[in-house]
Amino acid sequence: MADYSRRGVLQGIGAGLASTALVNGARAQAAQPRKLGYAIVGLGSYATKQIMPQFRNCEHARLIALVSGTPEKLERYGAEYNVPKTHRYSYTDYDKIRNNPDIDVVYVVLPNSMHAEYSIRASRAGKHVMCEKPMAVSVAECEAMIAAARAANRKLMIGYRCHFEQHNLRAIELVKTGFVGRPTLITAEHGFYAQPGQWRLNRPMSGGGSLMDIGIYSLNAARYLSGEEPVELVSTEYTDRSDPRFRNVEDRIDFQLKFPSGVIANCVSSYSSNHNGFRVTGTKGWVGMEPATPYDGHRLFTRSGGDTEQVQLPPPRKNQFVAQLDHLPESVLTGIPLRASGEEGLRDMRLIEAIYRSARERRAVSLV
Ligand code: NAD
Repeated sequence: MADYSRRGVLQGIGAGLASTALVNGARAQAAQPRKLGYAIVGLGSYATKQIMPQFRNCEHARLIALVSGTPEKLERYGAEYNVPKTHRYSYTDYDKIRNNPDIDVVYVVLPNSMHAEYSIRASRAGKHVMCEKPMAVSVAECEAMIAAARAANRKLMIGYRCHFEQHNLRAIELVKTGFVGRPTLITAEHGFYAQPGQWRLNRPMSGGGSLMDIGIYSLNAARYLSGEEPVELVSTEYTDRSDPRFRNVEDRIDFQLKFPSGVIANCVSSYSSNHNGFRVTGTKGWVGMEPATPYDGHRLFTRSGGDTEQVQLPPPRKNQFVAQLDHLPESVLTGIPLRASGEEGLRDMRLIEAIYRSARERRAVSLV
């Protein structure tokens, strides 16, 4: 039975996850598992500042190759991460990764419009693919990526790091095991002040505005917190087209999702205000996070009756980045199902297209 005593909720006792992780960890150590080799494609901010430094803490993943259009970056990061010259590729010789047996996984960290092409080429080269969110810029592209991975008999995973973050996992578990009672309302808000002059504000590169980049966290959280797929949605866009940043992408787009159980999710996506949080309210209380989806510094709160409490979890054995990087190799090596598959990315992209349609046509869109 779930432990909802104050001590149980605040310390995460009863989660089961930690003990499972420890048992798995002990087994993994005993077996000395093979590490799969990753090639990172696109040496931009997220790849170099967040992802690449995490490999040193991975159990099943190692950084083995780099792909970039900038020779200086290949030189600099190649030296920093001991990637030999034979394992450094430009975009023009990218397809030669096919001949490098050290590369098991290709991690695509390029602007959104390049995700589909570079993922599909990696699948065709016989590699497993990790692709950043959003999976691509259209449903058609997502379907082509899934088909290419399937044809090559290789895995395709999307970089939904929050699926591996312990506070988010605890929030999901609290909702699922009845802490809030019957969930009635989810609020999820994500946004930041977009700086001018970046590919995110150029539709051909980004596929869209705040929703593609940051609002997708509100959308994905509404789905993982409810544990359901929406049956109807409605959205409204608020964009000042005289602002040069928003000539061809949206600024704010708010959307409401209706789920089969009756729970409603009110979601915010913005490029002109700061938000990072969610709350699930039910008949007995609520569970919320602020910030909910940052790189670190997550805070989880609960309330049932009395006071609002902050849930303190022990430090995780693996942070969200390490757990995500290890997960794809674990799936390859052991056959466990992927937690954030291409199908998961496709589900979000179908909803993103429906959210844009609803805003454009100023009407609710049925999803069944
Ligand atoms: P970035 O601009 O810092 O990096 C993009 C990289 O792509 C750069 O190295 C750039 O040189 C390269 N590139 C190659 N061809 C390009 C072209 N034609 N135009 C522009 N750049 C080109 O961006 P980023 O913030 O690292 O984002 C990369 C991807 O990672 C995006 O899909 C983004 O959504 C995703 N991302 C995910 C998270 C997360 O938390 N999961 C965080 C940040 C970014």
